[in-house]
Amino acid sequence: MKPVLALVGRPNVGKSTLFNRLTKSRDAIVADFAGLTRDRHYGNGRQGKHEYIVIDTGGFEPDATSGIYKEMAKQTRQAVAEADVVIFVVDARAGLSAQDHDIANYLRRLGKPCVLVANKAEGMTEGHQLADFYELGLGEVYPVSAAHGQGIRSLVDLALAPL
Ligand code: GDP
Ligand code: MG
Repeated sequence: MKPVLALVGRPNVGKSTLFNRLTKSRDAIVADFAGLTRDRHYGNGRQGKHEYIVIDTGGFEPDATSGIYKEMAKQTRQAVAEADVVIFVVDARAGLSAQDHDIANYLRRLGKPCVLVANKAEGMTEGHQLADFYELGLGEVYPVSAAHGQGIRSLVDLALAPL
């Protein structure tokens, strides 16, 4: 079985763009991967020597109690449960948000391997723009640009190297 990466983060940080980049696809792929449920968004990916499965998620609202948000939170939890590594995506341009803290708390409690990725970091050369994200307590912050395809290869190397 290929390793599974789950993309987690609040809405609009660029998870689906990163999904497309990681799978080199433009379209939603709803595929039949053995052992995985089908109501989330799966894709096959390959970077260099690594082959993997990516799960996109709709967003994350840890306190959601009803409707679409509850469903998204449920799907996110299920995606995280299926993942070997969680890719937690934050928005380097928008900066740290309360929702990021909620998600980080959730992920820290799980204790699953987690890579913190600051997306939309194209053209950001100043390290201090990412410094706030260290507050999340998840270690190193990796800048990428899903839209521009920057940092993707090293992200995959980093996420999958320990497996
Ligand atoms: P999701 O809600 O987390 O799945 O986010 P989307 O992938 O739908 O992206 C949300 C918005 O951010 C869209 O307008 C994307 O074009 C934009 N976006 C995604 N990645 C990048 C990036 O690397 N740089 C910039 N500047 N915008 C991005
Ligand atoms: Mg999306």
